[in-house]
Amino acid sequence: MEHDAAVSVNNLNFIYPRGQRPVLRGLSFKIEQGEVFGLLGPNGSGKTTLFRLITTLLRPSRGEISVFGIEAADCPACVRAKIGVVFQYPALDKKLTVMENMKAQGHLYGISGRVLAKRIDSLLDIFNLKERGREMAENLSGGLRRRLEIAKGLLHRPRLLVMDEPSTGLDPAARLDMWRYLRELVKEFRTTVVLTTHLMEEAEQCGRLAILSEGSLVALGRPEDLRSHVGGDVIRVKGLNLGDLRVKIQNQFGNNVRLVDDNLIIERRQAHELISQLAQAFPDQIESVTLAKPTLEDVFMHFTGRSFQRRDPNGA
Ligand code: ADP
Repeated sequence: MEHDAAVSVNNLNFIYPRGQRPVLRGLSFKIEQGEVFGLLGPNGSGKTTLFRLITTLLRPSRGEISVFGIEAADCPACVRAKIGVVFQYPALDKKLTVMENMKAQGHLYGISGRVLAKRIDSLLDIFNLKERGREMAENLSGGLRRRLEIAKGLLHRPRLLVMDEPSTGLDPAARLDMWRYLRELVKEFRTTVVLTTHLMEEAEQCGRLAILSEGSLVALGRPEDLRSHVGGDVIRVKGLNLGDLRVKIQNQFGNNVRLVDDNLIIERRQAHELISQLAQAFPDQIESVTLAKPTLEDVFMHFTGRSFQRRDPNGA
C-alpha cells in the first residue's frame, strides 16, 4: 500500500454524454505520495473534468484512474473516503459559524464527540482560524474562507487533497498565505496535494506539473525541468508583415521562428547576439525585440505552438 502512487491515470479518455468530441484523450501519468502536483492548462483544456474524474464525480469513458491503488470505477466510496475535496466555488454554509461549518462536515463523515472536537481544534490551529471560531462564514475574507474550506476538506484526515482552482477569487496576499498552509500540510502530514490551475504563478509553486492542452497531456515534470526544454532564451519580435519577416529571419539566421498571435518567437541560446543582428538586418520591419528567460507560458507554446492566453479570433 505504501508504495502505491497517490493517483495513477492510465489511458484515460472522457467524453460528456451529449458532448461532440472527447474532452480528455489518452492521459497517462502518476502522482506520487507527498507530491504537490498541478494540473495546468488554459480554459477548456479539461482540468475540471479531470478533477471530477479523480474525485469520482464522473466515470472514465475509457481507461482507468486509481487512488492509492484502488480503482475509482470499482469503488468510488472507497476513493472518496481517502480524499479531501475543495471545489472551485465556495462550498461553505455562509449562515453558519466557522465552528459550525467544521462540525457539520465532521458529522457528514460520521465523526463526532471528543474525536471531532480534537480534530477541529487542531485544524483551526494549523490554519490560524481559532480566534474566528464564532464568526459567521459570510463575514470572513476570501482568503480566510478558502483556508476554512481546506480545513474542512481535511477533517476526515484524507491522505490526498484535491482542489479545483484553489486561488480563484483570492488576492495575491491570500494566495501566498494559502500556499504557506499547503506546504505546512505536506511537511507535517505528508498529504498529497493535487490542484488544477490556469495561473502561472501558482503552477510555479507546484513540485510537478501536468500541462494539458485540448484534453491531451503535452508535458509532465518539475517547473524548472519543463523550462529547460525551451531551447535557451526566448526572443519576441513585434513588427510589420510578420509572416514575411518570419520567413526572412529563418532563411537568414537558420532559426526556427514561430508566429504566435502578434509575435514572432525564437528560442535560442546566447540570444542577445541575435537581437542586434536582427535589428540591423530588418530595421524597417521590426518595431520591438524583447529577450527573456523562458516562463511556463513559453513552455506551453514550445509544446503546442499556441499561446496560453489564446485570443478570441473574433476579437471579442
Ligand atoms: P477547464 O477546467 O480546463 O477549463 P473543463 O474540464 O471545464 O476545462 O472543460 C473541458 C471541455 O469540456 C470544454 O470544451 C467544455 O466546454 C466541455 N465541457 C465541460 N463540462 C461539460 C458538460 N457538462 N457537458 C459537455 N461538455 C462539457
